[in-house]
Amino acid sequence: IRLYSSLNLRVPVTLPNGVTYEQPTGLFINGEFVPSRQHKTFEVINPSTEEEITHVYEAREDDVDVAVAAAKEAFDNGWSQSNPEDRARGLFKLADLIEEHAETLAGIESLDNGKSLLCSRADVALVSKYLRSCGGWADKLYGDVIDTGKDYFSYSVREPLGVCGQIIPWNFPLLMWSWKVGPALATGNTVVLKPAEATPLSALYACQLVQEAGIPRGVVNILPGFGKIVGERLCTHPNVKKIAFTGSTATGRHIMKSAADTIKKVTLELGGKSPNIVFSDADLDKAVKSIAFGIFYNSGEVCCAGSRVYVQDTVYDEVLEKFKEYTESLVVGDPFQKDVFQGAQTSQMQLDKILDYVKIGTNEGARVVAGGERKGDKGYFIKPTIFADVSEDMRIVKEEIFGPIVTVSKFSTVDEVVSAANDSVYGLAAGIHTKDVNKAINVSKRIKAGTIWINTYNDFHQNVPFGGFNSSGIGREMGAAALDNYTQTKSVRMSIDKPQY
Ligand code: NAD
Repeated sequence: IRLYSSLNLRVPVTLPNGVTYEQPTGLFINGEFVPSRQHKTFEVINPSTEEEITHVYEAREDDVDVAVAAAKEAFDNGWSQSNPEDRARGLFKLADLIEEHAETLAGIESLDNGKSLLCSRADVALVSKYLRSCGGWADKLYGDVIDTGKDYFSYSVREPLGVCGQIIPWNFPLLMWSWKVGPALATGNTVVLKPAEATPLSALYACQLVQEAGIPRGVVNILPGFGKIVGERLCTHPNVKKIAFTGSTATGRHIMKSAADTIKKVTLELGGKSPNIVFSDADLDKAVKSIAFGIFYNSGEVCCAGSRVYVQDTVYDEVLEKFKEYTESLVVGDPFQKDVFQGAQTSQMQLDKILDYVKIGTNEGARVVAGGERKGDKGYFIKPTIFADVSEDMRIVKEEIFGPIVTVSKFSTVDEVVSAANDSVYGLAAGIHTKDVNKAINVSKRIKAGTIWINTYNDFHQNVPFGGFNSSGIGREMGAAALDNYTQTKSVRMSIDKPQY
């Protein structure tokens, strides 16, 4: 950490695709970019080159207190009482602006996170669709009228919670920003959001668009900073009414404990070790592309990655051969180059962790069929890696690696594969590949996971809820389900006097 007394609040950045833009570097509090109170900054690294992109100001506890006060003021005196149509208009406008700035935002995401432009563009497209969908919900928050007999009038309304603390990871920086900010704003809440320390840039850029969309100051506040400082303070702050977190299960567990003293509502979207099953009657060429997309998309840094592939014994060798061939055809490298499918891992820490798992898998006796090593010596690139001949008790089959590493196991019966698929502490997603619709539905009923993809994978839609069973989390994001995370029910029961006329 360096002490900068005069880091500019905007610095010019030239993206590798030639686009130049002004990157905000301050904390975004009450509608303004400001330096942190202690003037500390931290550096932001380009994972493809390992070079510094810029510094941004680092928030500390005192900044959290100021941001929470601004968000509380905006909640109490405006946003919570606002006309739902105005909230809708703000979110629609924000969605339009995200579309207008899509290429810059995608570039920022690839620069900061290392993901290929192909992935960044898909993220940004879903961000605008999702924000627009949230705008559509803003004026459709209905309560109930409850028949409790002729002497009473009983009804319920849904009210916002207050200031929401939101903590997001580095694998989908802007997409997670939208999954948190969108439903909170639609339902009349205000937010203080902490981006991951590795990837703060797109969240700050998007705040300019929040302002331009006419969303009042104080409704959205962004604090780049570290989990143990900013995250911790958000989780314990008495005026923060809810914590929404996406990240590792270990941190999620800790956050739930920290938030317990003030009885905050907590939603968690955590890790996974998701099974992806190929039955012998599947369209094998399509299934191979799907399992590759399931694990290697976004450089494998996906909470619901299909990291355990199960292939039926009669087609195992054929699928493994096709999978190897397809995997080796995927282009890994500079995220800004055309045709690149897989960019860099996001950090040195992540690179080291993944390479460690390659060693662990090899030492456990698994066979490397493809990849298994770093690509080049500059930038955090790893070749997409397939391990075969694995057994279910190996660490590479049990533990979340969060990188482009997949294990492939053989099964013969439906019972066997269902039991293996469910043998996990997680339960985020699963994939089933078959042409038999009855089998697909039956197996989907037996698998314990929040999302089941049939003949597709990593296939998100803004109206389809997403979230985990078991240690993969609490609550659902997207679709109508996301609104439940940000509203509370107030019941009104009125006694009706006997008519006097
Ligand atoms: P993390 O879960 O620790 O970090 C996610 C976010 O939580 C970041 O914004 C971080 O600053 C914040 N945070 C960290 N400690 C906190 C605390 N005590 N209180 C409040 N907030 C806190 O993840 P990481 O350390 O960046 O990565 C570790 C591993 O987690 C990865 O290797 C990967 O396996 C997994 N991971 C999973 C997801 C997911 O979506 N499932 C996302 C990121 C990382």
